[in-house]
Amino acid sequence: MKKKKIVKDSYIVRTKKRILRDTIETEKKYTTNFKDIRNYFKIFNKSLFNNKLNPFNDVMIKRIVRGSGQCVEYISYRKGTNKFVLEMMPKYKNKMEFLNTLSHEMVHLWQQTIKKDTGNHNKLFFSFRNKFKRLNLKLSY
Ligand SMILES: [Zn+2]
Repeated sequence: MKKKKIVKDSYIVRTKKRILRDTIETEKKYTTNFKDIRNYFKIFNKSLFNNKLNPFNDVMIKRIVRGSGQCVEYISYRKGTNKFVLEMMPKYKNKMEFLNTLSHEMVHLWQQTIKKDTGNHNKLFFSFRNKFKRLNLKLSY
């Protein structure tokens, strides 16, 4: 049991270092791409969600009027199915803002698919605050 924890911690530390390295240029604008979304989805899934998350059913890079990203649920009453689509903006102020946004939307996905929650910015949402902190990420509205 103890051994497992050590392995997990070292992955957190490695991830934290990677994020630090990756976000060092705070003045540099970040252009969103599917490769980074895919890679960081895997990294965050392992470091924040114990690999429990299923990927978004679809990912779109588009202009968003409110907020900097969205996790949108599409429900088909006719087919009786639902799917979750991640929407990310084409550009971010810097890479840190991109990573904060992606991880934020992943918490919404976790709430709605794993916990069958409303996906609001509620207690469940903010229960990730400390986990985020350990990776130098910021969880906010
Ligand atoms: Zn949100």
